[in-house]
Formats: sequence, C-alpha cells, structure tokens
Amino acid sequence: MTVDMHCHLDLYPDPFMVSRQCKTNEKLYILSVTTTPKAWHGTLKLADNNPRIQTALGFHPQIVHERYRELELFDSILPDTKYIGEIGLDGSKNLKKHWDIQLKVFRHILHSIQNIGGRLMSIHSRASADAVLLELNKYSDTGIPILHWFTGNITELKKAVKQGCWFSVGPAMLNTKRGQELVVLIPEDKILSETDAPFVKVKNKPLLPWDASSISLQLAKIWKMDSSEVEIKLFENFKNLAKISGTW
Ligand code: MN
Repeated sequence: MTVDMHCHLDLYPDPFMVSRQCKTNEKLYILSVTTTPKAWHGTLKLADNNPRIQTALGFHPQIVHERYRELELFDSILPDTKYIGEIGLDGSKNLKKHWDIQLKVFRHILHSIQNIGGRLMSIHSRASADAVLLELNKYSDTGIPILHWFTGNITELKKAVKQGCWFSVGPAMLNTKRGQELVVLIPEDKILSETDAPFVKVKNKPLLPWDASSISLQLAKIWKMDSSEVEIKLFENFKNLAKISGTW
C-alpha cells in the first residue's frame, strides 16, 4: 500500500491521465491538495468519487496576496469537505512583503475551521514554522495538522511534536542531510509519506503519486528496519490517522 499525503493532482500537465492511473491503482491512497478555493470543484472531479482519492480545499500562502477575495469561496466550500490543504505561511525572502495578508488569511481560515469543528489539514510552513505553530496553538480546536515537507530547525520540530503535529515526508526531503537529521526526531507513528508532485522532480521529470513509496527505502536506513516493515508501518500510521480524524 502507498499513501501520497500531499500531491497536486490538478497541476500535472495532463491531470486526467495521472488521475486515471491513480484510480486504477488499488494500492494507492491520495490527499489531492489544491492551491486556491477556485480550483476545488475541478480537482474534486479528478477524483471522480474514488474513495481512495480525497480532495482538500486549499489556499496556498504563496498566492493569497493575489487571491484573498477567494476567502469567501473558501468559507462556502468548507462545510463540504473534511480535508484542508494546502494552507499555511511562507516567510521566504520574496514573500515576506506579503506577510500581513498571509497571516490574516491563515487566521481567518483557522478560525473558520475551528467554528466548523475541525478538519484534517496539510500545512505549508517554509521559513515560518514558529509562526505556524503559534497560530495552531491559538486556534487549538482546528483538528489534526499535518506539517508537510517540514524545513524548520530542530527546536521548532520538537515544538511541533509536542503540539501533536503529524508530518508528511517525501523523497526530496529525505535526499537532504538536513531532512534526514530532522526525520530521526519525528516519532515513528507520526510520519506519513508524500510527494508534493508535480513540483518535485527527479531527473527533470515530475514524481508521480505512487513514487511516495520510495521513502520506505530511505526510512529503512534511518530506522534500521527492513523497507517492507517500514511500508507496513507507514500504512498503519495512515490507517490510524484516518481512524482518529474520521477520514477515508
Ligand atoms: Mn505543495
């Protein structure tokens, strides 16, 4: 079994072809995230009611400054889905100038999610882990946060673990020394696999959702386990998450 906990199905050059392949692969579960509320309905159609592919309502921090008018749409779709992502904050140099609007939107979203009883959330926290954790702490009834491709420091990671966050980890993260250093500090039962495809490429070709399975080989070395055991462990984590969040 393979789980891709963070994949942008709608952003492949041929999303229909990729989603068709995903639907026929009975060993694959996907959280299909979006970057803007406007993309949600179209992306939902890609899943075509397949129970293994769930579509998340998102508002990516890198574009909220151009699209904040879609917040209303976000709120109107929210009751229709149990899945949120990609949301969060981005403190990268070129986006720092939009920090105020990012924070405003993120807070609005967390507030709405809290009001509706919480959701499963896939969260972006590039160069902003501390701020993301602070907000998650303030809005504490928002459900289950999954920090996707965590790139914060060790102190921030420990804080996130303490706050009960889950982590989705992909091949790209585990290919860096820093990613490997962080991953050893994540509790084994809080790790999920992801690709962040099609943004993540190997040899210039975008990863495909089923490539999320390759982290089993990388984690096997780190955990000193057999990769088949890792695969079982990762799927158990997913099933556990589904159970506690009432998803899938
Ligand atoms: Mn992403």
